[in-house]
Amino acid sequence: MADFAYSPVTPEVVEELRALLSPGQVTTDEEKRAAYSRDEVASCAWDRPYLAEVLVFPERTAQVSAVLRFADERRISVTPRGAGTGLSGGAVPVFGGIVLSLERMNAILEVDVDNLCITVEPGVVTSEITRAAAAAGLLYAGDPCSGDASFIGGNIAENAGGNKVIKYGSTGASVLGLEVVLADGSVTWFGGKQRKDVTGYDFVRLLVGSEGTLGVVTKAILKLVPLPERVVDLLVPFPDAASAVAVVPRIMREGGILPSSVEFMDALSVQLAERFLNRPVPHSDRAGAYLLIQIEGNDRDALADDYERIGRFCLEHGALEVFVADNRTMRDRLWKVRKNLTEAAWAFFPPEYADEDIVVPTSAIPEFLDRLGEICARHGTVSQTMGHVGDGNLHATIFFSGGTPPDWKQRLAALQRELYPIVKALGGTLTGEHGVGLKRREDVSLFLDEAQMALIRRVKLAFDPNNILNPGKIVPWTSPP
Ligand SMILES: Cc1cc2nc3c(=O)[nH]c(=O)nc-3n(C[C@H](O)[C@H](O)[C@H](O)COP(=O)(O)OP(=O)(O)OC[C@H]3O[C@@H](n4cnc5c(N)ncnc54)[C@H](O)[C@@H]3O)c2cc1C
Repeated sequence: MADFAYSPVTPEVVEELRALLSPGQVTTDEEKRAAYSRDEVASCAWDRPYLAEVLVFPERTAQVSAVLRFADERRISVTPRGAGTGLSGGAVPVFGGIVLSLERMNAILEVDVDNLCITVEPGVVTSEITRAAAAAGLLYAGDPCSGDASFIGGNIAENAGGNKVIKYGSTGASVLGLEVVLADGSVTWFGGKQRKDVTGYDFVRLLVGSEGTLGVVTKAILKLVPLPERVVDLLVPFPDAASAVAVVPRIMREGGILPSSVEFMDALSVQLAERFLNRPVPHSDRAGAYLLIQIEGNDRDALADDYERIGRFCLEHGALEVFVADNRTMRDRLWKVRKNLTEAAWAFFPPEYADEDIVVPTSAIPEFLDRLGEICARHGTVSQTMGHVGDGNLHATIFFSGGTPPDWKQRLAALQRELYPIVKALGGTLTGEHGVGLKRREDVSLFLDEAQMALIRRVKLAFDPNNILNPGKIVPWTSPP
């Protein structure tokens, strides 16, 4: 995998870590190590188990710095960890070593209403940032479906997307500044509260989405925007996926409306959510697909005009009905369905499945869905497909329809070998928001050319010459050429 050798975590190393931090911030408890060595990818996805040798729980930047300096000198691998909700094995400690949990660095340090920004530590739960901003009459636009559990540090490391990307961009679009501890323990700030900055390279953009391989984020300054006074959600069942997808560009181009969310759910997704939540969703017996569309604004009448226009377009595209949710209770009910789709799939599917996070240009979605259906049928599999259709990002959970065969891994890999070239030919890519991590690193080279792969390795080694930070992620090997 890599031609780097890592030192084991001996009892002496553990004692030294306890001296650097405090005894209560370092543990080798086996149950805890197991719990902190996985994320939300089922462990059967890996060919062998991975286990941290020691867990550390720093409470300040200086402690993160001390741990990294120590690990770098000793050549011990360090895997940064947020809430462990990742869907790519990013927080899995491939080389054992130290798992560095950021969960105790969980303070909201400042809400700066004059400069429209908020400064937070990495272990703050995403939805707490949303609430703190709202209390000041502002909006933090990051909104992954896991937002009640994931940490902002994990969101930044994965450049998490979610439900408002079409209007506000992924997490990175809200990141103004980052305090980062580099692999050798040095502490630096990239960016800040300023909105423009071309002094040197744009390291903020580089750190965002780098999956804990280039540095550990210890503080973040995030952009806030005015909180819209009114929000309306529309749930629209369609007879089939193609009609649902076709209406999306029309809403924006012809309607002149930029929704804050356009979410897609196929029939199977909605049926699973109904069972999981024990709550009926209208037309689930005959709808082939649903859109969940959110619009926002300050003017009640203008918003009503907008949703009427959207409703009209949807009906012209064959929508079975248009449900309008304009109060908090109704809106929460609709989003509960959307936000529980992943867990509904986990509840009813066997753990042996492929979990895709592909992106294609939105106009290519119907063709992608057709090709996916064709390939799945040929391989004896079924796909539950949903996602952020407004930005072309689809999550397909692919499992075997007639029971899991013993060679499921090889067979799903064969299916992916057929699927990914199609994604690429349609102008798409491997992962839109869940990241490469451990899970997709063998497939990266299908999408990036050799020049880019080489550049990734060189950037990695420029930041982390001893390759101690989350080694084994993003590219199969990260050693010097
Ligand atoms: C039910 C469910 C729904 C989800 N919905 C979405 C969604 O809508 N959109 C989306 O994008 N994702 C979604 N996810 C995936 C996941 O929640 C995100 O990837 C999230 O950003 C991970 O955050 P975390 O705190 O759990 O990070 P972890 O899983 O702990 O870690 C993820 C990566 O970040 C690195 N990392 C963590 N903290 C730091 C830090 N401070 N500095 C440097 N590196 C760090 C880790 O090393 C690892 O590589 C979903 C997951 C689940 C289970």
